[in-house]
Amino acid sequence: MSVGFIGLGNMGLRMAKNLLKHRYQLVVYDRNQPAASDLVNLGAVFANSPAEVAEKSEEAIITMLPSSQHVREVYLGAEGIFSLEASGGEFRAPLLIDCSTIDPYTTRHVADMALQTRLAAGARAISESVPSPFLIDAPVSGGIVGAEAATLTFMVGGEEAAVDRARAILECMGKSVVHCGASGNGQAAKLCNNLALAISMAGVSEGLALGQKLGLDPRLLSSIFNSSSARCWSSDTYNPCPGVMPGVPSASEYNGGFAASLMAKDLHLASASAGSCNGKTPMGDAVQQLYAEMIEKGAGAKDFSGIFQHVYNGESA
Ligand code: NAD
Repeated sequence: MSVGFIGLGNMGLRMAKNLLKHRYQLVVYDRNQPAASDLVNLGAVFANSPAEVAEKSEEAIITMLPSSQHVREVYLGAEGIFSLEASGGEFRAPLLIDCSTIDPYTTRHVADMALQTRLAAGARAISESVPSPFLIDAPVSGGIVGAEAATLTFMVGGEEAAVDRARAILECMGKSVVHCGASGNGQAAKLCNNLALAISMAGVSEGLALGQKLGLDPRLLSSIFNSSSARCWSSDTYNPCPGVMPGVPSASEYNGGFAASLMAKDLHLASASAGSCNGKTPMGDAVQQLYAEMIEKGAGAKDFSGIFQHVYNGESA
């Protein structure tokens, strides 16, 4: 069965490679065509637009894009997935799986548009009550390390029958698929996760930076964190201090990984969501300010763990 994949950046490329390993045929698109060349060499077919991906995909279309604006463009734009209907093309994929981290309101809007357009009139319904195509939100946690190793956690929103149908595909790319409820709830879970992650990354950075200034070896201090109450993913899996761990962005000048600008986007989405439900994000707002300063200094494309450099000496990675 062929699966479409749109958005082949730090995460999407690694996730798509894992689908190829499970012998799915891939139809891929990225607006930056060279991003697809590795996959094309491995046998994927490059399409020239999201609409062409839709035309050639039989089981599902996965999107892994930076932000809400890009998701709207890829689904609703002039050459977007839903434009296939207007051009008279045949749409067969029953599942649309958006793995991007975006705001829950855009997710619900695009999911509604999928229901309204009924593009897959000729496709099998997913169940008696779930029409095709059906869009589920399935943002991920685990970073590039999890994307590479196929150990991502998917936080999924949408009808249960559609989530069950998507499991076989998602389990090729991750180790855990958690159904969070209705459409948009996967995004809500992801925003809360990243709010806590940004705060913990800033906290570990602050502790390690202070420790170094007090004369402690950051490797020793990290090993103490990791066997003490400061232990968390930011200290034991994705340590932000150069020289502590191999194979993470802090070991390679904060290149690759999860861009600081994307973390700033998630913090903004979390505080905006809080504003809509009488919630509060005081710690998140303080960390958002640190990321704004980092971006201002030109380090928005660096990995978000580069916040260590920023808190260490006020200079960006
Ligand atoms: P990225 O910027 O590395 O990749 C995004 C890709 O989408 C790029 O290749 C870009 O060319 C492509 N793209 C953008 N607009 C497009 C369009 N209109 N049509 C086709 N292609 C388009 O981003 P990433 O780090 O892979 O992150 C993707 C999503 O996953 C984001 O929402 C991010 O918040 C989330 N996320 C990232 C990580 C991580 O560690 N990088 C972890 C969890 C979640």
